[in-house]
Amino acid sequence: MRANMMVALPPESPRRSFISLEKRTWCYVQAPRTFDMAPCACGNDKTQWSEYKKHLWCNTCKIDFIPEYNGIFDGPIPVKAAQMMGISFTRIIIETGEVIPFSVEALEYNREVIEAWNEFLTEKPKEDDGI
Ligand SMILES: [Zn+2]
Repeated sequence: MRANMMVALPPESPRRSFISLEKRTWCYVQAPRTFDMAPCACGNDKTQWSEYKKHLWCNTCKIDFIPEYNGIFDGPIPVKAAQMMGISFTRIIIETGEVIPFSVEALEYNREVIEAWNEFLTEKPKEDDGI
């Protein structure tokens, strides 16, 4: 298993860099576009969660890509408003298929979700290490 494979993003990508790919262990049940995440550069907005963290998968281009923006994850997550709009943060554990419901009232893993995205948003692209 290539847990830390390196990948080069397309030259036109503003986030171009060589980055380390880490496998997702879970993803949301709802599709990325539900959360208003950026479509693929080809225009396809019916993307799926990539098997790699921070990436989405475009079934048209057959590529994993880093979305240009992350929709509602770009700011403080309006959890209750999101729920009213039919957005669910229920997630699925990829390996087991286990579904973990998200409780708005309990905000059970809200902190974890926010921390994960904060980490993503503040992460500096790693320098090209010459590979
Ligand atoms: Zn595409």
